Amino acid sequence: MENKKVVVLPGDDAAPEAMAATMEALRALELPIEYLEFPPGEKWIRGETDAAARAAIDASDTTLFGSTSGKTTSITYLRWGKQTFANVRPARWSKGFRSPMARPEGIDFVIVRENLEDLYLGLEGPISGLAPLNPYSRILRAPLDTSESGVYAIKIITEHNTRRVAHFACELALKRKRAGGKGKLTCASKYNMLRDSDGLFRRIVEETAAAYPEITYEQFIVDDFARRIVASPHELDVVVMPNLYGDILSDAAAGIIGGLGLAPSGCYGDGYAYFESVHGTAPDIQGRGIINPSATMMSAALMLEYLGFDDAGHRLDAAVRKVYAEGKVLTPDQGGVAKTTEFARAVIANL
Ligand code: ATP
Repeated sequence: MENKKVVVLPGDDAAPEAMAATMEALRALELPIEYLEFPPGEKWIRGETDAAARAAIDASDTTLFGSTSGKTTSITYLRWGKQTFANVRPARWSKGFRSPMARPEGIDFVIVRENLEDLYLGLEGPISGLAPLNPYSRILRAPLDTSESGVYAIKIITEHNTRRVAHFACELALKRKRAGGKGKLTCASKYNMLRDSDGLFRRIVEETAAAYPEITYEQFIVDDFARRIVASPHELDVVVMPNLYGDILSDAAAGIIGGLGLAPSGCYGDGYAYFESVHGTAPDIQGRGIINPSATMMSAALMLEYLGFDDAGHRLDAAVRKVYAEGKVLTPDQGGVAKTTEFARAVIANL
C-alpha cells in the first residue's frame, strides 16, 4: 500500500506548540504516512507559501491544521477550495476533564456546523450601498432607511449546502446509532425570526431527516437550544446548525466538557477533509510552552480514522483521555502545572 500523504500546517501564535506535541505522538505511532510539514504562519512568505501549500493540499489525502489568526492563509482554500462543508465538533466528556457540570458523566454529542456560508462570506458594506435595492423590512413593515450611517452583513443559506450538511448529519446519527448511540438528530436555528433564511435551513433538515426512519428528529429555536445544551446535554446526540450558531455553541459545548483545550474538530467535504482544534491560536500564552495539545491530538485521532487507520485513531484518542483519568500530568488550563512537552510524553507513554 502506498503511504498516505498528510499536509501539516502548524498555524499561528501558540498553535504550532500544540502541533509540535501532536506530531511527536503521531510519529510514535509509526504509521505508513508521509507528513509534509510547513512552517508556522509567522514565517510564511505571503503568496509563495500559500501557493505551495495549495499545491501540497491538492496532492495530499488530508491536512492537519493548527489554528490561524490570519497569517496561515490556506484556511480559505481548505474550506472553500476543497468544499469542506461539514464541520464536525464532538463534545465527549472523559474522566478527569475539568467540567463545570455537576454530572458530566455520559455527555457525548456532536455538533455538525455548516462550514461555508451563513454570515461567514464577509458580505458586509455601508448601509447606503443597499439604497438601489430599496430593501423592505418585514419586521418594521417599512422600507429600510438607507440614509443611516452604519453597515450591513449578509447571511446566505443555500439549498445545496443545507441539503448536503443535513444529509451528512443524518448519516452520522445513523453511524452512531449502529455503534450504540441514541440515533437522534437535533436542528437549532432562529427560524421564528429569520423565517426565510433559517426557515429554509430548518425545512431542508426536517425533510432530509424524514428520509431516515431509523433516527428521531427534533428542532429548537437556537436560544432555547442554548439553554438545553447547558441544562440537559445528556439528551443530545447529533446537532446540526448553520455556521454562526454552530461556531458559537460549539465553544459552549467545549465549555461544558471542560474547556477549549479539549475540543477537536474535522471539516469534511465530498472529496477531502481537514482536521483542526476548535480553539483559536491562544496568543496570550504563546511561547510559554503551556498550550494544551489535547484538542489538536484528538483532531489528529479523527484524521487517522478518516485515513482508514481506525485502530491507531482510537489508540491516540484513548491515550490522551488516559492522561486525564490519571490526572497527574495536566496543563494549567486543566488545573495542572505540566508543560505541553510533558503532556505529550505522557500521551506517548500511554500509546
Ligand atoms: P478565535 O477567535 O480564533 O477562536 P480567540 O483568541 O478568541 O481565537 P482562543 O485562541 O481559543 O480564542 O483563546 C481563548 C482563551 O482560551 C485564551 O485565553 C487562550 O489562552 C485559551 N486557550 C485556547 N486554547 C487553549 C489551549 N489549547 N490550551 C490552553 N488554553 C487555551
